[in-house]
Amino acid sequence: MSIADNLNKIKTILPEQVTLVAVSKTKPNSDILEAYNAGQRVFGENKVQDLGKKYEELPKDIEWHFIGHLQSNKVKYIAPFVSLLHGVDSLKLLKTIDKEGKKNNRVIKCLLQFHIAEESTKFGFNLQEIEELLQSYPIHGFENIEVCGVMGMATYTDDEDQVAKEFSSLKTIFKQLKKSHFNGQSSFKEISMGMSGDYPIAINNGSTMVRVGSSIFGARNYH
Ligand SMILES: *Cc1c(COP(=O)(O)O)cnc(C)c1O
Repeated sequence: MSIADNLNKIKTILPEQVTLVAVSKTKPNSDILEAYNAGQRVFGENKVQDLGKKYEELPKDIEWHFIGHLQSNKVKYIAPFVSLLHGVDSLKLLKTIDKEGKKNNRVIKCLLQFHIAEESTKFGFNLQEIEELLQSYPIHGFENIEVCGVMGMATYTDDEDQVAKEFSSLKTIFKQLKKSHFNGQSSFKEISMGMSGDYPIAINNGSTMVRVGSSIFGARNYH
């Protein structure tokens, strides 16, 4: 199946209100253009350098999302153009993003990453950490950041109940945060969860944004 076929297949099962982020990491521009020509405009990358290069080389109406773990010292390279940062997981990073947003005279949209998986390797806050942060630090004080919601990754497992439980916990976190800190902020609305292996489960549990790579572009070769 072609990239366009894969995209169309996914779109038929995706509810209209769910945003599809086509994760193009490690893939060449030709693959991205194939998806672009099939109508896809939102793409996700997880390496700052690759993202910068692809932004330079590809059509300017692409919305670029950064989906990986972002180091503070690299924010400056993508701050001028990035549409959404999915993996924001520390106060230090928030401060840096705000500063770079100011420099570029723009408001940068962010999702707070939560640790919902069993694996200890995945990045992210837990609810207690974020509540503490929000109590000691007024997140609305960041003039050049708009917090648009939450992001999380489930455990890599065949156990669908486990995955559903984890996605459901992210939805609960979203609802609590919405009530406690973002009530009345209509832009706080995104729950970014679901990848090639688990996006149908994520959608059943309230995902508003899925990040799908290999089911669109095929398996990745790392070299
Ligand atoms: C690579 C990646 C994806 C996409 O993974 P696939 O399994 O290829 O769909 C989604 N989210 C993040 C954070 C990733 O790093």
